[in-house]
Amino acid sequence: MASHNLLLLPGDGIGPEIMGEAKGILNWFGKRGIASFETETALVGGASYDACGKAISEETMKLADQADAVLFGAVGGPKWDGVPYDARPEAGLLRLRKDLGLFANLRPAICYPALADASSLKRDVVEGLDILILRELTGGVYFGEPKEIVTLENGEKRAVDTQLYTTHEIERIARVAFDLARTRRNKVSSAEKRNVMKSGVLWNQVVTKIGKEEYPDVQLEHVLADNCAMQLVRWPKQYDVIVCDNLFGDILSDVAAMLTGSLGMLPSASLGAPDPSTGQRKSLYEPVHGSAPDIAGRSLANPIAMIASVGMALRYSFGLGEAADLLDKAIANVLATGTRTKDIAEKGSNAVSTQEMGAAILKELESLAR
Ligand code: NAD
Repeated sequence: MASHNLLLLPGDGIGPEIMGEAKGILNWFGKRGIASFETETALVGGASYDACGKAISEETMKLADQADAVLFGAVGGPKWDGVPYDARPEAGLLRLRKDLGLFANLRPAICYPALADASSLKRDVVEGLDILILRELTGGVYFGEPKEIVTLENGEKRAVDTQLYTTHEIERIARVAFDLARTRRNKVSSAEKRNVMKSGVLWNQVVTKIGKEEYPDVQLEHVLADNCAMQLVRWPKQYDVIVCDNLFGDILSDVAAMLTGSLGMLPSASLGAPDPSTGQRKSLYEPVHGSAPDIAGRSLANPIAMIASVGMALRYSFGLGEAADLLDKAIANVLATGTRTKDIAEKGSNAVSTQEMGAAILKELESLAR
């Protein structure tokens, strides 16, 4: 049995609490002989700033670079509001994304039948929903230069952000989209604004070309990004994989997130380019939510987003799709019994703690594996 090397970065706030439950899941797969993990734990975010004055140290960056995958909790909190901009907790996460070249951000939006009533949309619109938003993460308007605020001669100010994409950047994210679609329902929807943006025109052309030449078996459609936002709240089940740039992906993935009810349920993965000799991608797995300082240290956090992030690591970094399916099933079954943390519990009903939810998922895994 191959051993996988995982770097655990719990971070701040509820990060260490939910990471504790993720560790329990990893240990269970080890004990059961399904997969073996060697883990190392290090500081990131505010916790790292307190220890060394940086949101992530050089030693931790080295560990991340050597690991098969990084499991990340969450960073930030009011305690670090006043720290220098470059050392703010989020800088640790941004450095990891940049230095590991994590250009593809996968955010599944899955609505467990037991939670369909927690969505703000009607049950039949979201029940059984299983879509994937693929967001380009290292290019586009968040990084393009010039990016500045200048003072004009007349004293007025002018702000500039630059939306910029090259063929290569679009090709590599398109290939990830088509590859993922092949493992799902074989459909890619490319969301862009080709009607008003030059970057949208190029995006459209490049995705079309890659689809035609390399993935003729996968259905491809183009949708204007604003229409995609509307369709997501009208009838989201029409989609399988939605691929989009950094800015539209930021917005569309948050819309998709709310279809499923709670932030505490949503995992994510960020992947780099495949290594030319091993085919292995650099990768980081994390819940979509932040450090939730309002509930930190009180055993109120829902650990499912973190545990489902472990599931994504099994699937996308370690080739353990069956183990990932088992974990997803265990989560769904536990929810079906009515076990809820406070964020997903109905008003007035009993809620379990972070640790009790972790233990319930472990117990269900044990009974499914019997
Ligand atoms: P948040 O996601 O931390 O919390 C938003 C709301 O959702 C809060 O009421 C919180 O209690 C609740 N919530 C979040 N995760 C939950 C979980 N697992 N279980 C139950 N409830 C949960 O967002 P915020 O309040 O805007 O930000 C708090 C801090 O987190 C800030 O410092 C922010 O910068 C940081 N942040 C970090 C990341 C990251 O590490 N990737 C992402 C977003 C925000």
